[in-house]
Amino acid sequence: MARIADIIIIGGGVIGCSIAYYLARAGATRILVLEKWRIGNEASWASAGMLAPQAEGPGPGPFLDLCLMGKELFGPLSEELKERSGIDIEYLKWGILSLIEEGGEEEAQARRAWQERLGLRVEWLWPKEVRRLEPGLKKEITGALFFPDDHHVDNRELVRALSEACRSLGVLFLEGTPAVGFIFDDEAVQGVTTPQEVILGRVVVLAAGCWSAELLTRLGRRLPVKPARGQIVYTELPDLPLRHVVWGRDGYIVPRLNGGLLIGSTVEFVGFDKGVTLEGVRRLTTMAVDLVPGLADRPFITAWAGLRPHSEDTLPLIGPLPGVEGLLVATGHFRNGILLGPLTGKLLAELIVEGKPSFPLEAFSPARFDHL
Ligand SMILES: Cc1cc2nc3c(=O)[nH]c(=O)nc-3n(C[C@H](O)[C@H](O)[C@H](O)COP(=O)(O)OP(=O)(O)OC[C@H]3O[C@@H](n4cnc5c(N)ncnc54)[C@H](O)[C@@H]3O)c2cc1C
Repeated sequence: MARIADIIIIGGGVIGCSIAYYLARAGATRILVLEKWRIGNEASWASAGMLAPQAEGPGPGPFLDLCLMGKELFGPLSEELKERSGIDIEYLKWGILSLIEEGGEEEAQARRAWQERLGLRVEWLWPKEVRRLEPGLKKEITGALFFPDDHHVDNRELVRALSEACRSLGVLFLEGTPAVGFIFDDEAVQGVTTPQEVILGRVVVLAAGCWSAELLTRLGRRLPVKPARGQIVYTELPDLPLRHVVWGRDGYIVPRLNGGLLIGSTVEFVGFDKGVTLEGVRRLTTMAVDLVPGLADRPFITAWAGLRPHSEDTLPLIGPLPGVEGLLVATGHFRNGILLGPLTGKLLAELIVEGKPSFPLEAFSPARFDHL
């Protein structure tokens, strides 16, 4: 006998868990999340947890609007998740300091100008002011842009809190259970298959990160999403040498409440290889010691890598898959999946439950790719 759900979500990363959470919160029932391994153990685990629309944003447009709106969700969400799950996601409003190194002045001026035009807070700091904020930084800097409204969270705790809150709302998670195919009839999806069983559902959401494309080949569709490896080096210190997230030209350092420092990150197109390389560790440690010379004699603790879902135009794909009724896609969040996870969940839940999201998703529709 087939198992019956109402909404089946494939993938238990930040995107899948956020969709399940906002659906359950909106009153949807019989929500099932299929996770091929363990909840939140892939890109969402490997991430640095920055919520950085201003430091990272490419410029005005729908993507920036989405990212800014995504960040606004975190204040209320962190409180809500603490209440529902008892987990603190460490939503830290420390701001991001983006150092301006030689030759980078023009780009920094332009970034500051378009952000000020949009009414966003951004400050140009001279070297003395930068060192007053962060005395441990190297001496040779031209200045910095300070984004006081870019924040960060503990991404692993975020996914744990989302999944615990989901469980308390009745969402069912099946770990160690990959979706391996779709039940498809009359141009509509009717459910999925796993190695053990057939699961029937009214709606299926594909949120399998960089593995989403592989699964869609079962429907003869080519989703333009591939893995982009990111490596991170980790150290932990009793006396935290930074009070802000710091960005240099070649990477960033993210301080955590426990004294952890995340030093990231590479962007590499090497297929599904999650290995950490000596070259990756060399590049990241060189960058970190150059930015904060006092790190040179601190201990190396560990390093890891994860696979970001990278789409052909680097924008996420959120919405119905054209030509397959009942199948929605939520992937391709590349470097911003933690920032955009909760908002993606909220908007897709609105689309599924109410028929219309509260923010227009046309710019992120999978239908923008004609070859799909
Ligand atoms: C080094 C690094 C640093 C990053 N830093 C940031 C940052 O600072 N800020 C930010 O916003 N973003 C950051 N990101 C990006 C962010 O982590 C990703 O965009 C986000 O985690 C993607 O979430 P996801 O749920 O789509 O994918 P994943 O977390 O990879 O989850 C997909 C899940 O689907 C499961 N799955 C796959 N195939 C199947 C199947 N057939 N059946 C069932 N389950 C399946 C997988 O096991 C996995 O658990 C970073 C990423 C990396 C790697």
